[in-house]
Amino acid sequence: MKRSLAALDGSRLDGQRVLVRVDFNVPLKDGVVGDDTRIRASLPTIEFLRGKGARVILLSHLGRPKGGPDPGLSLKPVGRRLEQLLGAPVRFVEHPETEEAVTLTRRLPRGGVALAENTRFYPGEEKNDAELAKRFAALGDLYVDDAFGSAHRAHASTEAVAHLLKPAVAGFLLEKELRYLGEALDNPRRPFIAILGGAKVSGKIELIDHLLPRVDRILIGGAMACTFFRAMGLEVGRSLVEDDRLEVARRLIEQGGDRLILPSGCVIAPDLREAVTSMAVPRHRIPVSFAVYDIDPNTAREYGSLIRESATVLWNGPMGVFETPPFDAGTRSIAMAMAEATERGTVTIVGGGDSAAAVTGMGMADRMTHVSTGGGAALEFLEGKELPGVAALDDA
Ligand code: ADP
Ligand code: MG
Repeated sequence: MKRSLAALDGSRLDGQRVLVRVDFNVPLKDGVVGDDTRIRASLPTIEFLRGKGARVILLSHLGRPKGGPDPGLSLKPVGRRLEQLLGAPVRFVEHPETEEAVTLTRRLPRGGVALAENTRFYPGEEKNDAELAKRFAALGDLYVDDAFGSAHRAHASTEAVAHLLKPAVAGFLLEKELRYLGEALDNPRRPFIAILGGAKVSGKIELIDHLLPRVDRILIGGAMACTFFRAMGLEVGRSLVEDDRLEVARRLIEQGGDRLILPSGCVIAPDLREAVTSMAVPRHRIPVSFAVYDIDPNTAREYGSLIRESATVLWNGPMGVFETPPFDAGTRSIAMAMAEATERGTVTIVGGGDSAAAVTGMGMADRMTHVSTGGGAALEFLEGKELPGVAALDDA
């Protein structure tokens, strides 16, 4: 357990400069923030600090600039969106590495907010550079990490800086992510099922290995199912298959026994662009000239019943090519079944970049118990790995 922002004596925050690492890595379109979910997710921490009279200095990365400033990846548009959400001005710190920036943080009013420019404009960021971390640390008197989505990377603004400022504590979003994902792994209400999909088995082997001993069932979907099908000797046509993972797939089928469930049927088409000729077939009837793009309605129904009988459901990876209708139907059915289960008290957790995007795009994020803001970070946490950004924080 990590020390939490809530556990700090509130009176100690008054007038303090609190350096907060947030994950404002949001999509930008024509200089405007597209989806502001990640910004909203950090508002509880920011508002709490403002309410305690702290001066709030925010750090984040955005996109992948190549180790130098890139005007197209400036955080300025994010600052403007944050101003709207807070209904308060946000001072933009263009050069957070300078003495002027330090002066600016000292002159912020109590409850004032400043946002530093993209941390990845500095080559030292991704190298976890001590000098850069020192510059960042000079902007605050204590450190709060609320950037779950960046916690799997040991970078200057997520790891090194946490050793330089004390206390270094978990913000409300980080704490919430660790609580939901952590409880699913360590202390789930049962029955506990995991639903895993997506494109590749290769990226999910460690996840399946870590989950198999913990869950009552794993339901497989996505292209990943096809590698399992081929390992079982089924014809998969032109589906996406990883031939170099057939051995692993056989091992997982053996270890999983009846806890590992594969789709009984699929929606297939000759090509992604030929959706008009798509059809549902049982899994042993996939023609050579077709590819699998989704789970079929029977499978969606079977998975739906298992979801409704569960007390905890963890979902990572879409069931089909949800970006291209009608191959979003399987993913949508799973989301619906989970939303209904949530209403009846099931703990439903979505972790994974594309799965979270699918659920959000379908307007169902609010109907889940928790939709993780971390794609890669959620995956690594669920694989049982220690996240360096979390490890560097003070213990509770
Ligand atoms: P997450 O980001 O939630 O962990 P992944 O990145 O593992 O999910 O997988 C998401 C991708 O998998 C999506 O882009 C989706 O189109 C793709 N996918 C799912 N099913 C299939 C399929 N049957 N054939 C090809 N691609 C698929
Ligand atoms: Mg993904």
